Amino acid sequence: MSKIISVRAIPLSFKLPEDRQITVGIGTTTKRDAIIVRVETEDGVVGYGEAHPGRSPGAVCSLIDSTLAPAVVGMDAFDSTGIWDKLYKMQIASHGLGTGAALAISGIDMAVWDARGKLCNVPLYKLLGGSNKPIKAYAGGISMGFQPPESLAEEVMRYVARGYKAVKLRFGDTVAKDVARMRLVRQTVGEELEVLADINAAYDLEQVRRLVPAIEECRLGWLEEPFGCNNHGAYRSLKSIMGLVPIAAGENHYTRYAFAQLLEAGAVQIFQPDVSKTGGVTETMRIAALLSAWGYQIHPHSSATGLNHAACLHILAAVDNAGYFEACVSDYNPFRDMFGELPPIDANGNVRPPEGPGLGFEVDEDLFRKYPLIDGPGYVR
Ligand SMILES: [Mg+2]
Repeated sequence: MSKIISVRAIPLSFKLPEDRQITVGIGTTTKRDAIIVRVETEDGVVGYGEAHPGRSPGAVCSLIDSTLAPAVVGMDAFDSTGIWDKLYKMQIASHGLGTGAALAISGIDMAVWDARGKLCNVPLYKLLGGSNKPIKAYAGGISMGFQPPESLAEEVMRYVARGYKAVKLRFGDTVAKDVARMRLVRQTVGEELEVLADINAAYDLEQVRRLVPAIEECRLGWLEEPFGCNNHGAYRSLKSIMGLVPIAAGENHYTRYAFAQLLEAGAVQIFQPDVSKTGGVTETMRIAALLSAWGYQIHPHSSATGLNHAACLHILAAVDNAGYFEACVSDYNPFRDMFGELPPIDANGNVRPPEGPGLGFEVDEDLFRKYPLIDGPGYVR
């Protein structure tokens, strides 16, 4: 047993200079936020996790510090299932889960798993039953935003030069502009590269229908999040208009219960839970098992910091249905590298999980002072 003696949320923010702002289907990024959850045990071991900030990092931190932390202090850090269950039941029983609580539980759970790995002095993937295997990666994160087709094709070629065999474009501008960008990228990269695209829930069914001929012509690898996460009717209706291109969703679907609904709707073939949103390592492993039973792979969505990216790699190294790792190729994201760099992409476009204990990082808390909280939304229109 290793008793948890403190749980604390640390909000981080930085503004993006205008020339580094990127526009995608949900708006323009003016700042980036992250929440680091710090869990300390009686042995002096400190685990760190990432909770997605949603559009209100201060509010999510307040929920963690004021309501969830007191419920976790005193529990055994090895009892990650018990901690998850206590927090989930506490939230679901009184007001339903809600986004804020899902994000908060995710960060606490990830920090508990990091602490468990450090207590055992083994990397997380070994605790989860995995091996240091190669995991295929695609170039993603907040990148490849709306811009002229020629400069987008140039950006894509920079990632190809770094070893990526797959890239994710951003759709949701206008159907005509999306198609022009995709066509030039396909023409530039040739037949071999996997080209994916993300609408960020910016379209309706009719707009997606108008995209279908061009995405088939360009052999798109997947079409991500055409609609909002609760638009089950539109997702079901997609079945009758989609051809061969698979539909992806999941970064805004929280817990295994939402993934069970997605599976029952039958319109989604690519599943993308975010470890810092859907319920942490505990719940993402359950979702992976659920998907495995239906014959699907898991392709985790990645968030702001290296903690989330490392968690994705450890999970992918430990499941029997690993899909893609979403590598953050944003040209300006200090949160990605502030704890140390992840293993590099190899010549085959693969990445391996980190080898250090837990998530694999030594965290220098002095760095947190460089990024004081700027509350409010990170995307504007
Ligand atoms: Mg997405």
